[in-house]
Amino acid sequence: MPISTRRPFRRPRHVPATDYEVVIVGAGAAGLSAALLLGRCRRRVLLCDGGRPRNHFSPAVHGFLSRDGIKPHELLRIGHEQLASYPTVERRENCVSQASKDPETGIFHLTLDSGRAVTTRKIILATGVTDILPPIDGMHELWGRGVLHCPYCHGFEVCDQPVAVYGTNKSVAGFALLISRWSKDVAVCTDGWTGLSEHARHRLKRHHIILHEQPISQLIGRRNRQLHRINFQDGTSLARHALFIHPEQQHRSPLAEQLGCRLLQRSGAVWVDKRIQTSVSGVYAAGDITPAAQQALIAAAEGAQAAISCNEQLTREECT
Ligand SMILES: Cc1cc2nc3c(=O)[nH]c(=O)nc-3n(C[C@H](O)[C@H](O)[C@H](O)COP(=O)(O)OP(=O)(O)OC[C@H]3O[C@@H](n4cnc5c(N)ncnc54)[C@H](O)[C@@H]3O)c2cc1C
Repeated sequence: MPISTRRPFRRPRHVPATDYEVVIVGAGAAGLSAALLLGRCRRRVLLCDGGRPRNHFSPAVHGFLSRDGIKPHELLRIGHEQLASYPTVERRENCVSQASKDPETGIFHLTLDSGRAVTTRKIILATGVTDILPPIDGMHELWGRGVLHCPYCHGFEVCDQPVAVYGTNKSVAGFALLISRWSKDVAVCTDGWTGLSEHARHRLKRHHIILHEQPISQLIGRRNRQLHRINFQDGTSLARHALFIHPEQQHRSPLAEQLGCRLLQRSGAVWVDKRIQTSVSGVYAAGDITPAAQQALIAAAEGAQAAISCNEQLTREECT
């Protein structure tokens, strides 16, 4: 059947004229999924992406229903390919650098890094996060292969192997106990931090998890970027197949702050309600920037929810 390019209806007079109905910022799993649903609603959408997804260091995306083990860029390529069927979705390889809301009209004004200014009735922020790795020799080189952040994504690939868990605060104990479901040979490396409580030390010992508190000097990898050993500053070393770490994170983009969206104090995540709307009416957020678990499938689901919420709110405004 030929694809309809007709608009479903005319803009009612009381609805403000804007370049787009929805601008989606970020075309990772969350943004692409939002664009797909809005394209199917025949909404006028601009989808902007100015970089690479968070997991581009990784060889594979795991745990994504029907796509388990797919390369990160292949997942996105399929997403873009399928989006091409929806003519009301325009895609740009641009960063959105500025965003503001006109308090009188409720219209959003965005500026792209090309200098182009656009207006829209709704925004979906799907801009993701950046991981800030500790400055240890070898950490960046092995990130995504020998240095891993998530056992749900990569635990199965290293199960029953000797692994280590890195952490310099009390959450390291819980993280190590979680990892011990995948391997019985777990070591904790606190890189010079010695603040673990007696209770936490006992729990680790009870589960045969060995504690290494001395500072790390270097991670030695194999040619395929898997971890080989952890060298410590005191001259000792530990053979390990992988190191798990929960790195610090920061937002990829300052747009949520610029728009005045409420951020959660502890995690810095963008607060959203059950419709995935932020504290600013008309601004939705999806994917890793929200408090939900950081998984590609969950990001895609949040993107879909944001799209549905946007479309329903736009419809309410149109059908008074
Ligand atoms: C090493 C590694 C491995 C992982 N492995 C898995 C796995 O196996 N399975 C799994 O489910 N999850 C995995 N994850 C988590 C997964 O990558 C994220 O949950 C997922 O990418 C989140 O999707 P997102 O759309 O929110 O963000 P992203 O995929 O990070 O996409 C955000 C996009 O927004 C763009 N952007 C940012 N700011 C702007 C701006 N101002 N203007 C325009 N564009 C902008 C960025 O360029 C980026 O393309 C892994 C993560 C890492 C770090």
